[in-house]
Amino acid sequence: MYAAELIATGDELLSGETVDTNSSHIDSVLERHGWVVQRHQIVPDRLDVIVDALKEACTRTSVVVTTGGLGPTQDDLTFEAVARVMGVPLKEHEPTRQRIEAFFASIGRSVTDNNLRQALLPEGSEVLVNRLGTAPGIVVGIGSTQVFSLPGVPREMRRLLKDEVLPRIPEGGVVVRRIITVAGVGESALEDSLKSVIARHPEVKVGFRAKIYENNVKLVAYGDEAEARVLAVADEMKAVLGERWLSDGDQTLPGLIVPMLSKQGQTVGVAESCTGGWVAKMLTDISGSSAVFLGGVVAYADEVKQQLLGVSQTLLAERGAVSEEVARQMAEGVRVRLSTTWGLSTTGIAGPKGGTDDKPVGTVWIAIAGPSGTDTWRLDLGNRGREVVREMTVKVLLDRLRRRIES
Ligand code: AMP
Ligand code: MG
Repeated sequence: MYAAELIATGDELLSGETVDTNSSHIDSVLERHGWVVQRHQIVPDRLDVIVDALKEACTRTSVVVTTGGLGPTQDDLTFEAVARVMGVPLKEHEPTRQRIEAFFASIGRSVTDNNLRQALLPEGSEVLVNRLGTAPGIVVGIGSTQVFSLPGVPREMRRLLKDEVLPRIPEGGVVVRRIITVAGVGESALEDSLKSVIARHPEVKVGFRAKIYENNVKLVAYGDEAEARVLAVADEMKAVLGERWLSDGDQTLPGLIVPMLSKQGQTVGVAESCTGGWVAKMLTDISGSSAVFLGGVVAYADEVKQQLLGVSQTLLAERGAVSEEVARQMAEGVRVRLSTTWGLSTTGIAGPKGGTDDKPVGTVWIAIAGPSGTDTWRLDLGNRGREVVREMTVKVLLDRLRRRIES
């Protein structure tokens, strides 16, 4: 397996001004090339720190990629650091100087001395011509390590990576990756359920990515057997996870539900209180939803629940809007009024205010009215922030709908 390390330079990356997107881009490109990135370093525009980072990285891997610090100003120090680690001087690279002069001539400006600094390269570097800017990239050998220094500007970096770096490094072996999506199991419970599968297949690397309600398991294997190994693990995981298995891929709940409904010629309508239209948004995000999603009511106020969905006024007064019976009547009301196969509803306390002793923040009722009756669920989602409570509500509701359509 080929391993690489990355060094991103720039004060702006350590002060919160700029996010180091260069490194994550390089990670994904190298991963597709069959390489593993084993470490990132982010260093300031300081010669001694860059020198140390580079020296260390070179002792560990066969390829190091640096980004940034190739600009014309005094704080751009990468070439100086590379030269220092190589033990060579900086030397003007004639063709690069000519390119810089030609560039400035083409935009009708004269070249300043600091522009010409970009033509001072460590002696013995091979130049990676940058067609999108004035800063050239370089590749040098330090010990047995190939060191690539690329500009910081993301567009220029990406182009050089693809056109100049990849052709200069060997392709790693076969790498097979698969993302599995599961519903309603958190990372730790997920790992616990899957631990015997994982233990049986040490040759497949397993990673967990926690999101909200829908979580991912990532499987990676290397070598000629990789495809078969990943498939075997995915099959075993599917058997263990049962209903919690969503897809072999990164498909989301609405992405699964819309085609399921469409195939069965079924339709859906929504009556949303605490989710304010989010369920409708999720379903209509999917292309093809017009065949199955008829519409909905955002019934935030009690009067709207009464007038547009037929929820009983007495019920609202006696039980309150966040109650099982109201959720039921909302779901049934929208199903009847829109003549859909399914009617979905949400009503809850998203917070951060509005909780009471018997209905604390995070108390939500959801309901699904369908051909064989209405199901309701109370969710106790806790005071986890308005956004999380609402998103969880949407996802749990869609997951319950998926299970009902499947059964
Ligand atoms: P430099 O080559 O250091 O002069 O960087 C030029 C510009 O590229 C900086 O001003 C940043 O806006 C951007 N940049 C540098 N490094 C990164 C990075 N690691 N990720 C994203 N943007 C970067
Ligand atoms: Mg910089």
